[in-house]
Amino acid sequence: MPAVPRLGLVVAALAAIVGTGLVAPAAQAAPEAVVREDSGEAEAVAQAVALAEQLAERQHSLATLNQAADARDRALIGYRAVLARYGYDGDPDAVRAVLPLASYDLSAGFGLTGPLWEAEHGGQDFSAYAGEPLVAVADGTVTEVAYAGPYGLRTILTLPDGTEVWYCHQTDTSVVAGQQVGITDVIGSVGSTGNSTGPHLHLEVRPAAGSPVDPMDWLQAQGLDP
Ligand SMILES: [Zn+2]
Repeated sequence: MPAVPRLGLVVAALAAIVGTGLVAPAAQAAPEAVVREDSGEAEAVAQAVALAEQLAERQHSLATLNQAADARDRALIGYRAVLARYGYDGDPDAVRAVLPLASYDLSAGFGLTGPLWEAEHGGQDFSAYAGEPLVAVADGTVTEVAYAGPYGLRTILTLPDGTEVWYCHQTDTSVVAGQQVGITDVIGSVGSTGNSTGPHLHLEVRPAAGSPVDPMDWLQAQGLDP
């Protein structure tokens, strides 16, 4: 008998529609009243399924609009302004790298020793608000997204020359391993996962996937002034 699961679908569909405000709360009583009459049941089910399909289409349209609005925002301010937001003021055609986030305070530097780190501090810390977007510093490939002990949620971006850029302590990620990303693409957001005393980005730069170098030196070598 398909009636039972389909009734569940009717209720779910109407609950979803009521939840959107498309139907007044008084209409919540309607499904029971309608489905008690066998003659009207099939029609009620069909109507509810059609409404649920319309709702799904509208939600998909809304998501598409949101994505388009975000892209339009970037297009409106222009590529040059997007690059400037991330610390690059030069010719857009000559850009090699940008800063990993737009708003931050520099905190612990590279090479420090202390109780927070097992060995020397292997990166540069950027103190920032939790949720601050993190962007790709250059075109590259996401080669890992995973929790990594003291590093917390870490994304590794590998650049075409083999340099690894590590983004650590993230609260969430918006990319997956294997994904190609372009410079300034959002890849995740600032958090405090792993060995961390507050929201910040721990950025590591590892040429040829080897030992870390000072990210400040590397960023400055790309023409940036973090
Ligand atoms: Zn750090």
